[in-house]
Amino acid sequence: MSETETMTSPIRKTVQTSTTIVGLECPTCGEAAAPPANNGGKSPRPFCSTRCAEVDLGRWFRGQYTIPAVDAADDTIVEALIAKVETAAGESEK
Ligand SMILES: [Zn+2]
Repeated sequence: MSETETMTSPIRKTVQTSTTIVGLECPTCGEAAAPPANNGGKSPRPFCSTRCAEVDLGRWFRGQYTIPAVDAADDTIVEALIAKVETAAGESEK
């Protein structure tokens, strides 16, 4: 084992290339992510394209809207839920 071999370790080079282009996958479709943007430009990273970025954004919005899943027109469901919450709150106060 020679000393010159440890001095010129190839590890640093591999790390640099993996952080710039390789190693990042689009969370939407799994393709390789778009390269980083140039000065002042926009990049869809970590997505592969702006379309995939919008798809992911839409999923988040839809997920937020589906949390209040009670149908507002159906009062019986709401009243039952309120009664449940009130009894639960009354029990926790003791
Ligand atoms: Zn994609």
